[in-house]
Amino acid sequence: MNKEERQSWGINTRLNHPDKIELVEGNFPTLSPIYQTAKFVVAEHALFSQQFIYTRISNPTLSQLEKSLAEIQKKEECIVLASGIAAITGMLLGLLKSGDHVIAFREAYKPGRIFIRDILPHYNIESSTLAITELDTLEKNIIPGKTKLIHFESPTNPNLSIADIEKICTIAKKHNVLVSMDGTFAGIHQHTQYPIDIMIQSLTKYGNGHGDVVAGSIASSSKIISQIRAMTILIGATLDPHAAYLIERGLKTYLLRYERQTKTAERVANFLFGHPKIKKVYYPGLENHPGYNLAKKQMTDMGAMISFEIDSTVAASADKFAHRLKIIQYAVSLGSTETLIAPTLTFFGDDLTDKDKVDIGINKYSLRLSVGLEDANDIIADLEEALSHVIKM
Ligand SMILES: *Cc1c(COP(=O)(O)O)cnc(C)c1O
Repeated sequence: MNKEERQSWGINTRLNHPDKIELVEGNFPTLSPIYQTAKFVVAEHALFSQQFIYTRISNPTLSQLEKSLAEIQKKEECIVLASGIAAITGMLLGLLKSGDHVIAFREAYKPGRIFIRDILPHYNIESSTLAITELDTLEKNIIPGKTKLIHFESPTNPNLSIADIEKICTIAKKHNVLVSMDGTFAGIHQHTQYPIDIMIQSLTKYGNGHGDVVAGSIASSSKIISQIRAMTILIGATLDPHAAYLIERGLKTYLLRYERQTKTAERVANFLFGHPKIKKVYYPGLENHPGYNLAKKQMTDMGAMISFEIDSTVAASADKFAHRLKIIQYAVSLGSTETLIAPTLTFFGDDLTDKDKVDIGINKYSLRLSVGLEDANDIIADLEEALSHVIKM
């Protein structure tokens, strides 16, 4: 559009069709721009499948993030969505159909557990729920011709059990069943050595890392991704391009954060383990953790999540204790720069049976802690101070 032609337009036309800034060849930003647009002008000669058309279908900012996440997770392709739970439900609805069966575990993110257990049956998709530490029953629970998927987490939410991934993958391959893993607690850099068909992440957590965006991702082969994408485009839980940019930005410091948070978490776990008012500590990096050897084999970094139980003979409740903390904030979520704590039962296990609660090891004295980037000494001092006030009423 030449200048004279623009000058002939009214102000509203000019405001809605701004004169675009063009870059000369070889001159480009060091970071990818944010394509904050819902739609794209469609080129005349290019194939539809090679063009961006509408942001719910695809957008260069989302594609950029998908590319980064697929590469780090060693998968061919990735889909980013508006939440981690959209990634779980989109994956399930994309892969399963009426008459199928899915195997899941009681040690799992609550909304995912609820979707598989209570919602999928509406679509005639049944499930079996097993215990992650009792994989001997896994093979028996595969229904030939019906079981399509095994979905698991590791470390598990909330008490950080470690799944034997090699075992799950071997059994699944033998029976031609797909394996999906929710790798949120371990982050995006771990478990890439295993033949896990589909890797789910809540990017709300370590991926973005700054606690200001809700997002999720599905990484897999191109074949599986195209099947799931056909569904997620219809579900429409599209990630906003600006949010995608924030995650892309967060990813630059991902491993630095994860490693530092792990290092601090190790110190905090050791402090809690040695404290007389703490009855139990669940952290995969502690030698007394039942999954310690498996975690050592499978993971490079043990993560920033610690679950623990205050001694019921001295504490009133997990809730009272958590509210005494000053630096550590009473909030759900994890993998953020700030240290967060929440009573486990209230937020992560109230839909479980009493037996499952006992087996998993959660009660009204249990807490889930996500260690952030504050100085380790300050986090420990905060816990120490609050513990000194823990007195049974
Ligand atoms: C938070 C979380 C999710 C869901 O992610 P959202 O982004 O909150 O939807 C799924 N799985 C695990 C293990 C989580 O911690």
